[in-house]
Amino acid sequence: MAVTVTKECVGCGSCEPVCPFGAIEIKDDQAIITEACTQCGACIDTCPVGAIQREIEAKQVSMDKTEYKDVWVYIETSAGKPRNVGLELLGEGRKLADAMGQNLAGVLIGNNIAELAKEVFAAGADKVYLVEAPELAHYSTDGYTATFTELINSYKPSVILLGATNDGRDLGPRIACRVGTGLTADCTGLGIDAATGLVAWTRPAFGGNIMATILCPEHRPQMGTVRPSVFKRPVPDYASSGEIIRAANTVKVQDIRTKLVEVIKVCTASCNLEEAEIIVSGGRGLCKPENFALVEELATVLGGAVGASRAAVDAGWKPVLHQVGQTGKTVGPKIYFACGISGAIQHMAGMSSSDIIIAINKDPDAPIFNMADYGIVGDITEVLPILTEEFRKIKA
Ligand code: FAD
Ligand code: SF4
Repeated sequence: MAVTVTKECVGCGSCEPVCPFGAIEIKDDQAIITEACTQCGACIDTCPVGAIQREIEAKQVSMDKTEYKDVWVYIETSAGKPRNVGLELLGEGRKLADAMGQNLAGVLIGNNIAELAKEVFAAGADKVYLVEAPELAHYSTDGYTATFTELINSYKPSVILLGATNDGRDLGPRIACRVGTGLTADCTGLGIDAATGLVAWTRPAFGGNIMATILCPEHRPQMGTVRPSVFKRPVPDYASSGEIIRAANTVKVQDIRTKLVEVIKVCTASCNLEEAEIIVSGGRGLCKPENFALVEELATVLGGAVGASRAAVDAGWKPVLHQVGQTGKTVGPKIYFACGISGAIQHMAGMSSSDIIIAINKDPDAPIFNMADYGIVGDITEVLPILTEEFRKIKA
């Protein structure tokens, strides 16, 4: 797309102050669009003689959509195991595949990972596409993008789901761009649009004030990233099996522009929130950073991870890696402790799918109690040490 000025321009200057990027100059009674233009289009309607226009590039070569079949889920791995998000998406992928009358496949890329196919079949997949090579032992943008793109071009899936993790957010848009399709990022809901039979990708928009549902009618595959822990992992059925399709690796070391020098773990078990079964989270009600030690102690005794509200993160009490909520992580543990957290809608957006919510707050009217399964009204500095001590006795 490009914004241009036609010869009808009379140089009146009406458009100049409207451009938010200062990209219009008037010279010799003529408006000139400079390189600062972002093609936002804000100026187009301001021209009284209709002299500003946006040229739309010719549509992509039309594709035969009937060639595209099956729902694929990218199975991200970590330390030789599939990450939960891939298994969660297989559960949702199964529903989409059944509704569309198509197969469900998991995509495994790595080295010496064929064993993981069992987990993928147990979570409901009919097929596994497997690419193994030493060059693919660790995630790399270049290596995985090329491999996944090659798979799509060869096997033509209809739908691709990826986790909205660091790797999934890196990989998804790159693949989409290479194969000429769109991608809905950070989805929190999936379904089938009744009118069109297309996948309906739902995600928060405008700061979470509305939920937008997005369709991809013109291009294939239909692609999206989905936040971890939004969906429950299906109960594994290890009696299930399926077809493994091995694809040859075409990536060479010299194709990968980055080199893994060292893995430095900044995230220990305490901030692995997406995989945690128990999370103890602290908020502004802890009153001072030192009191986070009470939250951490309970988490340690229970073998859980430590979460934080945005207020606690903004106060510098915990790094953002621990933030739960709309602009933090979405979690779905078996037990979620909310300690000194009021229960703002943006926090609840990230933890409402927890199986059991236990809230501790000194205000009996705090909104968190409306969502909690168990509530303790009391001062956090008094309640937490008692709980920690009691759990310690049970664990001993
Ligand atoms: P508060 O709301 O201040 O609540 C503190 C609670 O502690 C109160 O209920 C109080 O009664 C209780 N308390 C005080 N002292 C004690 C005590 N001694 N013992 C026991 N209880 C006590 N927030 C998030 O958490 N995650 C997000 O991802 C997020 N994203 C956001 C995105 C946007 C666009 C916006 C606008 C906001 C977002 N927020 C997010 C902020 C959110 O609106 C709230 O401001 C925040 O969650 C409040 O954090 P809190 O519950 O710790 O603090
Ligand atoms: Fe400025 Fe937007 Fe017009 Fe470009 S399209 S000149 S950025 S107002």
